[in-house]
Amino acid sequence: MVVVFEEEATEDEIDNVVKTLKDYGFGVHRSTGVSRTIVGAIGVQPDFDHRQIQVLPGVEEVYRVTEPYKLAHRTFKPEGTVINVGGVKIGGNEVVVMAGPCAVENEDQLFAVAEHVSKHGVKVLRGGAFKPRTSPYSFQGLGEEGLKLLRKAADRYGLIVITEVMDRSQINMVAEYADILQVGARNMQNFTLLKDLGKISKPVMLKRGLAATIEEWLMAAEYILSGGNPDVMLCERGIRTFENATRNTLDINAIPVVHKKSHLPIIVDPSHATGIREKVVPVARAAVAAGADGIMVEVHNDPSHALSDGAQSLYPEQFTELMREAALIASAIGRSLT
Ligand code: PEP
Ligand code: MN
Repeated sequence: MVVVFEEEATEDEIDNVVKTLKDYGFGVHRSTGVSRTIVGAIGVQPDFDHRQIQVLPGVEEVYRVTEPYKLAHRTFKPEGTVINVGGVKIGGNEVVVMAGPCAVENEDQLFAVAEHVSKHGVKVLRGGAFKPRTSPYSFQGLGEEGLKLLRKAADRYGLIVITEVMDRSQINMVAEYADILQVGARNMQNFTLLKDLGKISKPVMLKRGLAATIEEWLMAAEYILSGGNPDVMLCERGIRTFENATRNTLDINAIPVVHKKSHLPIIVDPSHATGIREKVVPVARAAVAAGADGIMVEVHNDPSHALSDGAQSLYPEQFTELMREAALIASAIGRSLT
């Protein structure tokens, strides 16, 4: 951490800051320039809040020079994390496609979608059995029945399953049927859930919160990693901005930013990011071009009768076309699509 003093800062004010830093356990290095003094605080104090220094008299600015997340930081694993789930490698050279309906509705729907996406090379079936809906009156998901259908469809078509766990009380049940557990955007900072997911031995996909900074998102990942679970992937699904032409705004910048700051794989969800079917394919293409390690796409056999997110669900034929285009883009940047 570096403390920059105001030009008019007095010796007493500087001494007070130096003493405060030492009291917190930091080593202190002072440098006096032509017009202002700079003090470097050396060491790591996990509970230290830099605003404690920011508010002291004479201080102009405080800069952190290290990130507060350690296990999620790129330096912890410079070569990058590759998560192997039943032979599907996430974070490697292959761009992984996760596809399926927003919610599991019934056997016919799920099997029709699973059959279609598997035919086009998809290895990961998505579908919600527990649905976080804005309205309590909307379809809430089939619960365990939905998990059973997911497992059955995945086994039939040679897929692995990703599905959302909404609450810590559901972890054991979801882990019994699913291969990857998804934490939804609304739960990104449900710290008790994250802590418990740190204790399981299945991979977790952590979606970015609606209004979360990348640092908050990586700190949320740090909760799972520090609990002992190394298999965490991130999912950018659009954030809330002033723009209301689309459901959310995809932060495409997050892809290279996360790749630089962290070793964790990053998946992009263009369906929730745009909320509009016709926008999903171009945004998915952009995500692959920008270096996403995977995309998660909602597909429905009959979107106009879907029980949730029909407007953003692709028709099967659109999904076929997306796979063709995404494969071309992946190969243009030296990757392949699975
Ligand atoms: C989902 O993927 O089913 C979902 C609910 O997404 P999000 O948490 O990103 O809104
Ligand atoms: Mn959805």
